[in-house]
Amino acid sequence: MKKLTILCDNNTFIDQYLLGEPALSFLIETDEKKVLFDFGYSDVTFKNAEILGFDINQIDYAVLSHGHNDHTGGVQFWSGKRIPLICHPDCIGKTVYEQLDIGCPLSESELNEKFALSLTKQPYWITENLCFLGEIPTSYTFEKRIPIGKKLKDEWEDDLVKEDSALVLKTKTGLWILTGCSHSGICSIIQHAIKVCGCDKIAGVIGGFHLLEKNERLIKTIETLKNFEIKRLIPTHCVNLASKIEMSKYLKIEEAGAGLTIVLEE
Ligand SMILES: [Zn+2]
Ligand SMILES: [Zn+2]
Repeated sequence: MKKLTILCDNNTFIDQYLLGEPALSFLIETDEKKVLFDFGYSDVTFKNAEILGFDINQIDYAVLSHGHNDHTGGVQFWSGKRIPLICHPDCIGKTVYEQLDIGCPLSESELNEKFALSLTKQPYWITENLCFLGEIPTSYTFEKRIPIGKKLKDEWEDDLVKEDSALVLKTKTGLWILTGCSHSGICSIIQHAIKVCGCDKIAGVIGGFHLLEKNERLIKTIETLKNFEIKRLIPTHCVNLASKIEMSKYLKIEEAGAGLTIVLEE
């Protein structure tokens, strides 16, 4: 069986005493490997893992969707083994937004002490069926990259968050696409997953879709998502209520929150 458990999300469910924070972390368990996708903002991810009775020493790989600290902040609290950490090189480095530090809290050398860093812009197959997509090309004009603050390269540059990526799992019923914040655009991410995996059947999409305003982009995203004929659509983290209401007029969407487990393949 292949399954996903949400270890950290903005939302929590009534009567389940897990912690929430505006951040994201997923645990993916396949027969072969256990993979942590993002770390949340604080130690909430690991507190929730403990409450759920999951031992983080079982994790074989970690992946970062992108460098923002609501996905990377938890690296400071990692106390597991020195496992491989796969991410785009731009996940590391100083990033600011209106004077706030919003990048990964650890430097490359600090990260390398805790993890065996594997930096790549190319798709990276973690197992035969699980792929880190690397840098996502923009396939739709309505998903043109918008700068979020500044990133320190040789000098301070507008940050287009080009590192923003996703995971894709090939299953018997099609692709499951797992996203962080989808700064690269949810439709462009799906399009790239289809290309990389050579399969256009989409079993499900779960994660942040970065839809926070009722605008042209939201309308075009809904139209495009409808055409993909996605079996299960689970927007969370950075999708606000107004966007979910609009989406639900045209698409069947599901609720998500900390502790939710989804079977990706029986
Ligand atoms: Zn982000
Ligand atoms: Zn985020």
